[in-house]
Amino acid sequence: MTAPLLPASPRIALLGFSIECNRFAPVTERADFRCWLEGEAILADARSPAPVALAEMPGFVRAMDRAGPWQPRPVLLAMAEPNGPVDQAVFGAMMATWRQGLEALRGQVDGVYCVLHGAGLTTELDDPEGALQTLVRATLGEGVPLVCSYDLHANVSDGMVRDCDAFVGYRTNPHLDMRERGEESAALLRRLMAGERFHRAFRRLPIVAPSVSMLTSEGPYAEVINLGQARATAQGQRKIANVSVMGGFAYGDTPFNGFAIIVTGPDATACEALADELAKAAWERRGRFVAKLTSLREATERALTSEVPLCFADVADNPGGGGRGNTMYILEAFHKAGVQDAIVGIINDPVLAAEARNLGVGARFTARFNRGGPNGFSKPFEAPAVVQAISDGRLTGRRGIFAGTAMDLGTTAALRIGGIVVVVVSHRTQCADPAFLEHLGLDIAAARVVVVKSRGHFRGGFDEFFSSTRIVEVDVPGLTSPMLDRFEWKKLPRPVLPLDAEARWNAA
Ligand SMILES: [Zn+2]
Repeated sequence: MTAPLLPASPRIALLGFSIECNRFAPVTERADFRCWLEGEAILADARSPAPVALAEMPGFVRAMDRAGPWQPRPVLLAMAEPNGPVDQAVFGAMMATWRQGLEALRGQVDGVYCVLHGAGLTTELDDPEGALQTLVRATLGEGVPLVCSYDLHANVSDGMVRDCDAFVGYRTNPHLDMRERGEESAALLRRLMAGERFHRAFRRLPIVAPSVSMLTSEGPYAEVINLGQARATAQGQRKIANVSVMGGFAYGDTPFNGFAIIVTGPDATACEALADELAKAAWERRGRFVAKLTSLREATERALTSEVPLCFADVADNPGGGGRGNTMYILEAFHKAGVQDAIVGIINDPVLAAEARNLGVGARFTARFNRGGPNGFSKPFEAPAVVQAISDGRLTGRRGIFAGTAMDLGTTAALRIGGIVVVVVSHRTQCADPAFLEHLGLDIAAARVVVVKSRGHFRGGFDEFFSSTRIVEVDVPGLTSPMLDRFEWKKLPRPVLPLDAEARWNAA
């Protein structure tokens, strides 16, 4: 029997669901999905100079456009900033849209591409991505190839691996390879539509690593990823098509959290052997997946006395992990200590930003942050301020994970508070791109101290100002604290590292 040839103009369904859900953060509503694209809007966005969607779908669409004729069948792509579990009714409405779209395509598509994050939750489901993948399979049948791409922070369920033909995870943290993974997904889908069939080998380890210990420039995570890529290159695409090493997202708090390895390829024996080798390599490095943070007291001292400029990361209040982007611990301490020549960004406080805009540039007033009162880790703080600059917050990302992406921070203000300029925004976003500060006229290179509310993606944007040796990860309270023993876990499999020293894993 000969393999079917790739259709001259393949028909491909496009859909996606992307949100990283922190079990401990507030519920995600419909309005939080700032990227909600239905039908042809997915293609128009993907082909625009500055898409709203993160780069996987634009990468996929442009790769398909370059490869020749194809017939996109776009359904729904919904993306939101990391947040709490999605309201089940909102997710139910999405599922209805995907179901309706897929039913209309039954028997009329040659392949499916699904942009997923992999660490989604709803108020009722631990595995909404798996539910969507199962829906694709159930509606279109096993014979229609399905390629799914995921963030490396995905918590990988058995269903996610079962209900796809190729599993494509990011390889970089910060996530600078989203576009490449979209392009790779297109290449793999073309192979599948041409008749190739892939095996998927899957291993999950009892390691739930804090995200700060999973950078890909160096360290244990980088070593496992690099080993996987080296082995895949040596064996070739005819054996191994993709190696995905997924660090996971602790705060998803699911029963299937854990460091995961998925090897996709035509040669099942080679895939299984490589998955074993990588699982062993990760387990050997288990003692290194720990957070090493600097106390606020020491951070404040360094902000006052450092002879070189430093970047302080508020890793515990990272909107990119569901943090609210408005805790005051570092700002308050630095202000009280009299830190000078500092920029703090970006703080989410729509009420304060609107007040500053209404007062106008040059106005003096008392800036009252979180004036609604304490809400979890977000507590009030006030100080005399001058409005230094205002904007509508619309810009195109310049560098890092948002480069080339249309961003909307909402009404934005730069407030001078003593020796610190604080950037206040109205749409909760992580401070991953220098443009968020620069578009207000701030000179990052001239600052002695820069504080960013971001866990790690700022490294991809602020690297031209701060080498890794000039970055200080500060230990303050927050919804995304890397100190995992401070959370009340409900569903994590236990025992698990680094929480439980007695956790064990045996190679099969
Ligand atoms: Zn991620």
